[in-house]
Amino acid sequence: MFDKSTWIRLPRNVVVGHGVLDQTLDAVDELHLAGRPLVVSSPTPHAVAGERVVDQFEDAGYDPAEVVIDEASFDAVQQVIAHAEDVDAGFMLGVGGGKAIDITKMAADDLGLGFVSVPTAASHDGIVSGRGSVPEGDTRHSVAAEPPLAVVADTEVLAEAPWRLTTAGCADIISNYTAVRDWELAHRLKNVPYSEYAGALSQMTAEMLVDSASSIKKGLEESSWIVVKALVSSGVAMSIADSSRPASGAEHLFSHQLDRIAPDPALHGHQVGVGAIMTEYLHSGPKGRWRDVRDALAAIGAPTTADELGIDDETIVEALTTAHEIRDRYTVLGDGMSEEAAIEAATVTGVV
Ligand SMILES: [Zn+2]
Repeated sequence: MFDKSTWIRLPRNVVVGHGVLDQTLDAVDELHLAGRPLVVSSPTPHAVAGERVVDQFEDAGYDPAEVVIDEASFDAVQQVIAHAEDVDAGFMLGVGGGKAIDITKMAADDLGLGFVSVPTAASHDGIVSGRGSVPEGDTRHSVAAEPPLAVVADTEVLAEAPWRLTTAGCADIISNYTAVRDWELAHRLKNVPYSEYAGALSQMTAEMLVDSASSIKKGLEESSWIVVKALVSSGVAMSIADSSRPASGAEHLFSHQLDRIAPDPALHGHQVGVGAIMTEYLHSGPKGRWRDVRDALAAIGAPTTADELGIDDETIVEALTTAHEIRDRYTVLGDGMSEEAAIEAATVTGVV
């Protein structure tokens, strides 16, 4: 008997380009949402974009509420939920880098409200996906929620963000290579469901970004265009798979572990990029394609070593040996690497 079924949730409106922040109201009007909008942002994004969004809704006769959060924390999520209840919000807009958007999607998920993503930095694929996480004690609180109903990514705004945020977004995309390899491996060894379509889309997204590396340069608005389009397509791959698998493998476990144990973790994208160099080595050996991953990262100016991440060698090795404990996700790390093997992988690839 045929009993397969699938459910693909995608954003309805994805608006990308120069000056599109001023079309936020149009993008939202088409969604037929009801009630009061609540605009969630953190201080800098609020000044750069949040106020302009609030003004649009005010001018159109909505009665927008706003809340500015200071940090990415579980408390901040609770604070936004309480605020949304106070003002009787009908839907939410997250305006910011990863932080405000993650918090908005988690609060929206909790309240059962629709949310719209307005990224002010192209720093990771969470700006398009439904997945989000914030630190809670020494662990992370994560949700696998619905993706945003709409994404409004203004390249003029994104180009103003600190350059390292853009290179972090690029590195997050480049890590799709190893994420898909881990996914295929888990399919072969553990019968984890695999989507050819989502896998191919995720890989193609990474290839297109690497092919455009020469156009990804500080000060070029086109860079933001290339990166944010790649982040959107990566998010679509996750929506099709109904899993973060197309864009998150062992390199992401490694990064999550660094977030827990490093005294001063680096940006998410930068950590997964360095992780991908080492996990590609684990997949394909010393003569494998880890050099291609490293060279692609270097070409866009993302870190390729522990030093460049600002994390000491011992912490890198510890994260490699313990990353498999983070969550029940089968990857090339299997049931864990020995310390000797981790040192070998990090040394051969020049990470330490
Ligand atoms: Zn990522």
